[in-house]
Amino acid sequence: MMEKNCIFCKIIAGEIPSNTIYEDDLFRVILDASPASKGHALILPKQHYANIYEIDEEVAGKAFTLAKKLAAHMTEVLHCDGFNILQNNGEVAGQTVFHFHMHLIPRYKDGKNADILTWAHEEFTPEEIAAIRDSLKVDGTL
Ligand code: 5GP
Ligand code: ZN
Repeated sequence: MMEKNCIFCKIIAGEIPSNTIYEDDLFRVILDASPASKGHALILPKQHYANIYEIDEEVAGKAFTLAKKLAAHMTEVLHCDGFNILQNNGEVAGQTVFHFHMHLIPRYKDGKNADILTWAHEEFTPEEIAAIRDSLKVDGTL
């Protein structure tokens, strides 16, 4: 299903050009227009889901399987030294395009963006950590 005014839906429909590196019935994979590194790509499900909360579980699983396969392929071609898989949900988390996507970011030892994905650490007291753990604990299986 295509969402009006969604740039990734327009790319998937071929209305906006993109540098596509892979396509199947469920996904299109394109090069990011503002790459963090050489080869930075985005896995786009063809169906519009805004984020991780909306995406179909099975499609989400297949997206990660595809990420696994592409990480191997891209590493072989690009000779990168490491790899980040990144997925943002919500403006506060850095999401700017509200069509679910996974970033595939090859990393290089001598790469320019050595400090992407670093953060300052927040401190919590042992009591706070215990409360967080208790609030998040899941009984049974998900
Ligand atoms: P987000 O910040 O939502 O996780 O990532 C959105 C990504 O989409 C950004 O890295 C941005 O560079 C990329 N992007 C935004 N518009 C376009 C576009 O029109 N074409 C391509 N190829 N990438 C885009
Ligand atoms: Zn969309």
